[in-house]
Amino acid sequence: MHTSALILFSGGQDSTTCLAHALERYQRVETIAFDYRQRHSVELEARLVVLREIRAQFPQWTHKLGEDHMLDLAVLGAVSETSLTRNTAFKMESTGLPNTFVPGRNLLFMTLAAAVAYRRDLQVIVTGVCETDFSGYPDCRDDTMKAMQLALSLGMDKRFLIETPLMWIDKARTWHMAYQLGGQRLVDLIVEHTHTCYLGDRAHRNAWGYGCGECQACVLRANGFAGFSAAVA
Ligand code: ZN
Repeated sequence: MHTSALILFSGGQDSTTCLAHALERYQRVETIAFDYRQRHSVELEARLVVLREIRAQFPQWTHKLGEDHMLDLAVLGAVSETSLTRNTAFKMESTGLPNTFVPGRNLLFMTLAAAVAYRRDLQVIVTGVCETDFSGYPDCRDDTMKAMQLALSLGMDKRFLIETPLMWIDKARTWHMAYQLGGQRLVDLIVEHTHTCYLGDRAHRNAWGYGCGECQACVLRANGFAGFSAAVA
């Protein structure tokens, strides 16, 4: 019986939905994020606001929501030449991956999350990775996560469960999952306080939240919200 979880929580729509999922499901929930000198600290600021709002607006979850962990991963920015950490334009590489791909990033995140979960005695690691409508990052795929679950469990001699609630659903269904977990109040919280835009744009407020409306992350979020809104209307 699993009762405790660590959520990879970036402050975006997906990880906030995963956090709500874990708060419904487990008795003790902690959060973790990594500062690797992202081009914009907007997400890192958004996550603190989201945690505060969840505590304030969802009293049934407040007592379950425990410690927040922030690890400094400046070294990741030092070893990777990608548009997430450098001021270069977004484009597709000849490998078929966008230049936002940081090789091994998610493997590193999962390893460090497991080390924290080990120390904090948390059984489940929840991450919002998705194979369905994102960029096909190979370190976010289901097989990679299954391999990581095995490697981390063996390598730390502790049985971890890696849970990926969003793996097989698209963005419209991610919005719907939030609606099922926390109703319109959670949907409104995600719209207002989570951040997804690659450009760090908090100047433009759209029906689906803040963002430039044009980068890949915004387009996915906007299209998903439109699909969700049409379905519940
Ligand atoms: Zn954007």
